[in-house]
Amino acid sequence: MHFRDTLKINGKGHLEIGGADCVDLVWEFGTPLYVLDEAHIRNMMRAYRNTFLEEYNGNGTVYYASKVFCCKAIYAIAAQEGIGADVVSAGELYTALQAGFPAEQLCFHGNNKLPREISYALANGVGTLVIDAYREADLIDAEAEKLGRVQNVLIRINPGVEAHTHAYVQTATTDSKFGFSVSDGSAEKIAAYVLSKKNLRLKGFHCHIGSQIFEKESFVIAAEKLMDFVFALKQSLKYEAETLNLGGGFGIWYTDDDAKIGCEGYSGYLRAIIGTVKRKCCEYGLRLPHLCVEPGRSIVGEAGITLYTVGAIKEIPAIRKYVAVDGGMFESPRYALYQSKYSALIANRADEAPCEKVSIAGKCCESGDLIGVNINLPKAETGDILAVFSTGAYHYSMASNYNRNFVPPVVLVKDGKADYIVKPQTFEDLVRNDVIPDRLK
Ligand SMILES: *Cc1c(COP(=O)(O)O)cnc(C)c1O
Repeated sequence: MHFRDTLKINGKGHLEIGGADCVDLVWEFGTPLYVLDEAHIRNMMRAYRNTFLEEYNGNGTVYYASKVFCCKAIYAIAAQEGIGADVVSAGELYTALQAGFPAEQLCFHGNNKLPREISYALANGVGTLVIDAYREADLIDAEAEKLGRVQNVLIRINPGVEAHTHAYVQTATTDSKFGFSVSDGSAEKIAAYVLSKKNLRLKGFHCHIGSQIFEKESFVIAAEKLMDFVFALKQSLKYEAETLNLGGGFGIWYTDDDAKIGCEGYSGYLRAIIGTVKRKCCEYGLRLPHLCVEPGRSIVGEAGITLYTVGAIKEIPAIRKYVAVDGGMFESPRYALYQSKYSALIANRADEAPCEKVSIAGKCCESGDLIGVNINLPKAETGDILAVFSTGAYHYSMASNYNRNFVPPVVLVKDGKADYIVKPQTFEDLVRNDVIPDRLK
C-alpha cells in the first residue's frame, strides 16, 4: 500500500501519522510543525538497499541525497540502515560528521566546490568526490598530494538525457551548469586529464538527469548512454570504469496528478537500471560495474507532513478563497519557486469530504507567498489544523528566516512516539549573529 493510504483517521476523526494523532502533536509541539514518519524513511532506504542485495549481489551503494532534508538525525538513520549519503557543501559534510556518519560512505557533489570545501572533505576522509570542473581535478589532486594520498573520484557526465516529470527528451548538447557532455567529446577529454593525475583514482562516472521523474524509460536511457560512454572510453583510452552512479530523481506523489509509486515501484526503477547495465555489459563484453543511486525526495518526501493552524480566511466572491495559515514561503518555498502542487486536509476533521477549492496563503509580506492553490478542502475554520502532505523533502532544507519567522521544528514519529530532531528556534537565535558597530551607537 502507498504510504499516503496508510495514514489513518482515528475514531475522533483526527489524522494519524506514525501512530500519533496530529491534534495531539499540535497540542504538544505547536504549529507550524514538520512531522516525519521514521518507519517509512527506513522502509524506503531498505527498499533501495535490498534491491541491490537481491538483484545485483549487493554490488551497489545507495547514497541518500542530503540536500532534500539535512540534520543530524537523518544521518543517524542512514548510518543504521547501512547506506551512504551525498553532500554538496561543507555545511552538509559538517552535519554528517557531527552525527558520526562514516566519511568513507560520503560522496561530495557540486558544480563549484570551493577550495576550502575540498580541503575540508579530504582532511576528513570523504570517500568519493565527484569532479565537475578541471579546476576541481587540480585542487583535489593538489590536496591529496599534500596529504600523501590517492583520492577516489568520479566525473559528472552529461549523457544528453533531460528528464521532466512525465517525459524525457534526448538532447545532443544540453544547456546545463552540470557535467561534461558526452556528445561533444568533453567527457572523454576530462577523463583523460583525470587519469593523468597521480593523486586521483578515477573510479568511474556519475550522472543525474533531473528530479521528480516518473518515466522509467528516462533512467533506462541514461544508463544506456552511460554504458555506451564506458565502452567508447575502453576503446579510446583503454580505461574501463569500475563505478557508475546514476543519481536520483525518482518522483513522488503530491497530488492525484502524480503516480503513487510505493516501495515496490521504486525498487522497480532500480531493477530497470540494473537490468539495463547487465544487458549492456553483456553486449559490450564489459565487467559489471559497482552501481550507485542517490535518491533523496523519494526517501523522505512522502514521509513528511506539515501541520499548520488556520488563521484568517478571506473570500473574494466569484474569484477565490484564501485560507491563511501560520506558515508560508519561509518554511514551504516550493510553490513560490516552482508553483508546486500539493494535497491537504483538515487534520482535526479528517473524515469530512472536501467541498471547495481554496488557496492556502502564508503569512509573509509577498503576494506570491502561497503554499498552494486549488486545494480541495472541507470548509476550513479559524483554529482548524491543516495538514499538507509530501513535505518531507525540499521544505525544512530550503527554509529560511524570511520576515524573521522561525524555521519550524521537526519531529520524528514512530509507534505513536514523537521526538524533536530539530528543536524550535527562539528570538535569541534570530539575532544571534547581528552586530551593531560602535559608530551606530
Ligand atoms: C538533487 C540530487 C539528487 C537527489 O534528487 P531527488 O530528485 O531528490 O531524488 C541526487 N543526486 C544529485 C547529484 C542531485 O543533485
